[in-house]
Amino acid sequence: DVFQKLDHMAERGLLFRIIKGDQRKYAAIPFVHGIFEFQVGDMSRDLAEKVQVYFDEVFHQAMRQNGDLLLRTIPVNRSIDADLRVASYDDAVEILKGLEKIVVTNCVCRVRAGRMEEDCGKPLEVCFLFGSMGQYYVDRGMGRQISLDEAVSILETCHEAGLVTQPASSQNPGGMCNCCGDCCGSLAAMNKHPKPATLVFSNYVAALDGDACSGCETCVARCQMDALTMNGNGVCELTVERCIGCGLCVTTCPSEALTLHPKPQELQRVPPETTRNQMMAMAQKRGVV
Ligand code: SF4
Ligand code: SF4
Repeated sequence: DVFQKLDHMAERGLLFRIIKGDQRKYAAIPFVHGIFEFQVGDMSRDLAEKVQVYFDEVFHQAMRQNGDLLLRTIPVNRSIDADLRVASYDDAVEILKGLEKIVVTNCVCRVRAGRMEEDCGKPLEVCFLFGSMGQYYVDRGMGRQISLDEAVSILETCHEAGLVTQPASSQNPGGMCNCCGDCCGSLAAMNKHPKPATLVFSNYVAALDGDACSGCETCVARCQMDALTMNGNGVCELTVERCIGCGLCVTTCPSEALTLHPKPQELQRVPPETTRNQMMAMAQKRGVV
């Protein structure tokens, strides 16, 4: 019957499903984020290669059109001056604190890269799902529920490893990824653009004091957007148009030459309040509603 077919699709990651008591609700999902992520436990080499073609030929166009409504970049907490007030939706720990259910799963992008023997080797179990989305992952055996303390500890590991924290573009996100420029489809798509800062939804940007730079090159490797390069004099240079405001370079600069600042007020953005509003904004931008 219809329910059997819907359940079969949900078990294969082709539909989202919520089970509450004896009630079941189903929702259609996009390929990213949706069908692709739901294959995290069942990624074949064939699928990994097909997704690579999709990323190379199609996804970067979708990112240019709608990327800012899909994911946001939020900064490493320690990269921001303690005197500055940070909105709770721009603070990863505050986002985690407000949640009843936190589930962690493997990063599907690094799983996919691993199937193609191109894995960057960075931590794997780092992507968070919340609420009913988290429950779907638990129901399908794709993730495990964790405490707030463990989630904060995983976040710390991510920042030490140089991963960019990207929640869904909502004040009440269904998930929060920790991404690398090597494997992540979203960051790779942004990286192809000459000015990633114009694509990303981020309220922060780095600044560099070149006189303070000791030329250690640590930040060059930390930056996933190639925003930091060394000039002929052995001093770091920052291309602001490539900076997505993650703060990863700031926390490891031994000379305190790098700092992170809020963008000017006119460029500050508040994410949609709910996931539903986020999805509606994406659909409206694509002209389908
Ligand atoms: S990490 Fe700091 S000191 Fe080292 S190159 Fe970058 S800006 Fe200069
Ligand atoms: S320069 Fe690079 S590492 Fe530093 S905040 Fe910008 S994007 Fe992040």
